[in-house]
Amino acid sequence: MVDILVVSKRRNITRSMRLSLRSIIFLSVGCLIITLITFVLFVNNARGAFIKLNISEIEKDNELLLKKLDSLYHFLNYEHTHFDRQITQDNRERTFLQMAYIHPDIWSMGVGGKGYEPPDENLTAHTLGILNDIYESIDILKGKCLLRKASLEEIENQVERNLYLWAHIPSVNPVPGRRIGSGFGYRVDPIDKKTVRMHWGVDIGAPRGTLIYVSADGVISDISWHRGYGLTIEVDHGFGFKTRYAHCKTALVKRSAYVKRGQLIATVGSTGRSTCPHVHYEVIVSGVKVNPRNYIDSSNIIFD
Ligand SMILES: [Zn+2]
Repeated sequence: MVDILVVSKRRNITRSMRLSLRSIIFLSVGCLIITLITFVLFVNNARGAFIKLNISEIEKDNELLLKKLDSLYHFLNYEHTHFDRQITQDNRERTFLQMAYIHPDIWSMGVGGKGYEPPDENLTAHTLGILNDIYESIDILKGKCLLRKASLEEIENQVERNLYLWAHIPSVNPVPGRRIGSGFGYRVDPIDKKTVRMHWGVDIGAPRGTLIYVSADGVISDISWHRGYGLTIEVDHGFGFKTRYAHCKTALVKRSAYVKRGQLIATVGSTGRSTCPHVHYEVIVSGVKVNPRNYIDSSNIIFD
């Protein structure tokens, strides 16, 4: 048994209470249970409030992320529009070089394969839709970039081939600054002044000794003397093109020499059947003599 003495000094009262040990244990256990329940309730309450706060933050984040995804999708669309200028440029370059253009469907094919991961299917239909659009857009844009890169390499190779070809096409006046006189076609013979003959080239008048330059890259295929043409130099340019320079005074190159457009090859003379110093200039394409005027670029922008 335990005696509990309660003393009140103010009222000057003293009371005593006798409790059995069993009652004291019972009261202690009761107090402990109440304290525990209160604690658990407090913790649960606090946890609930914390989770609620977290959900609210996640919802805000989610909303923001959806906005970002939407913005990303629109940004990609803008990049596609921007890239269309590259496609237009590609078509222009290919048209200029007489190359087949790339069909619009091929530009929009995308690449797929490695690197393309479909979005997680556990997402909501709305988010899944946006992500799918973004993945598809990136894939197509990547395809466009790779295609343009490959196209540029093709264009570069074609330009190199064309430059090589153009370098071998006769395209300049072999006596720069000198007027082309008697032209290609039928004319009255300038010596007997009565017979009409075909004139297979053009005559470029210049003082004796004026320098003659080759009109394209090629190889000196012949240097010989002809009764009518006098001292004649023939150049084989490849691709079926040849040029001939007749009535020369002197040859300044040797047979089989490789010459570049604009290189000095001879001087003007009046050898052979000629009335005054000039160059009789011929252009031969696949064995056919053609009008050299059609092969002289008056602007000289590209070829000089
Ligand atoms: Zn002539």
